[in-house]
This record gives sequence, structure tokens and C-alpha cells, in this order.
Amino acid sequence: MIVKKLDLKQTVPSPICLSCDVCCHFLDQDSFMAPVFTPKERERAIEAGFSQGLFNPTADGKSSRIRLRAYDEMFICPAFLPETGECSIYSIRPLDCQIYPFVIVFDEDRKRVLLCVDQICPYTEIEISKFHQDANRVVAFLESDAVMSEIAESRSLVGSHLETVTVIRPLDRLTSYLTQTINN
Ligand code: SF4
Ligand code: SF4
Repeated sequence: MIVKKLDLKQTVPSPICLSCDVCCHFLDQDSFMAPVFTPKERERAIEAGFSQGLFNPTADGKSSRIRLRAYDEMFICPAFLPETGECSIYSIRPLDCQIYPFVIVFDEDRKRVLLCVDQICPYTEIEISKFHQDANRVVAFLESDAVMSEIAESRSLVGSHLETVTVIRPLDRLTSYLTQTINN
């Protein structure tokens, strides 16, 4: 069975990403930045040929973090093709990857969910205004009923507060949705 996927157009132009080797590479095998797959996304990746063993359970008990593999003194996502710099599951890549370098994190008190950009992406330094301009579209996507429901099921998609992010704006509708669903 093919599970319908949620789609978001990326903010960073593709040619920039194809000439950058930051995404999909990680310093540690257990990096907390390795992408989280919701149950539906994991199902789609398995339909595409990934083995169940490539997914580690996350703290929310439903989603999974992809198991990274060693490559050239770093660790890479197993879907990454080093020869071409492409993602082998691009059309079904998880929400976590679709929104990057936007990230969703809790504030320091874990009371509010924030839309941020990860400063590790070099494009955020060159074109931060582009992310502010794009925020309405990204917020509308993240706060659509379908996406909020996915995030509520896979809460590990919301990261902890990080020093290396720039806050774009609070996600108040998502915050109250998560609060309601945790209390029900
Ligand atoms: S770090 Fe930024 S520019 Fe580089 S591949 Fe990722 S999204 Fe693209
Ligand atoms: S799923 Fe694709 S886009 Fe996401 S980290 Fe892996 S290779 Fe990169």
C-alpha cells in the first residue's frame, strides 16, 4: 500500500544544495540531527527497499531515527548517494528533511514550539531574509491539520532548544494542538 505523502517546496534552491555537502552528513553515528521518520514515512521507505533494521526507535515510541553509516571519516544517511550528492528517496524523503534548514524546536521552557532555521546551513547566513519571507508558507504547511496530526503522533520531530538556531517565529497553533493532544 502506498501511503499519501505530505509535500513542501524547499526554500533553498536545488543547485545550491547540490553543491553543498552539509546536509545528510553527521559527525556522530548517534547524531540527534539524523532525520526522524514518522510511521508512515518509515513504511514508505521500507516499500522503497529500506530494511526495518535501518530504523532506530525514538523517545516518542512511534517514530524512528535513521541509522547512519560510516563514510569518509563522517557518518551519512543510508539514503544519501555520495557519488552524485543526491537523496535516493528524494520524492518520499521525510518531513524532517523536507523542511530543513527550517527546524521545529521547543523554547527553553518547553512551553512553546518555535519555527527556526539551523545556522549550520550556510544559506541561512547568506539569505536569512528569504526564510522570513517564506515563513508564512512554511507555517501554513506545518499548521495544516494533516501535518499537525503527524507531528503529534511523532513528537520527536520537535527538537529541544538549541543555541545554533535562529528563531523565525512561534508556532502557536501547533503548540496548542500538541498541548491538547497530550492532555487527551
Ligand atoms: S545545508 Fe543548506 S544549502 Fe547545504 S544542502 Fe542543506 S539545505 Fe542545502
Ligand atoms: S532521507 Fe535523503 S534528504 Fe534526508 S538525510 Fe537522508 S539522504 Fe538526506
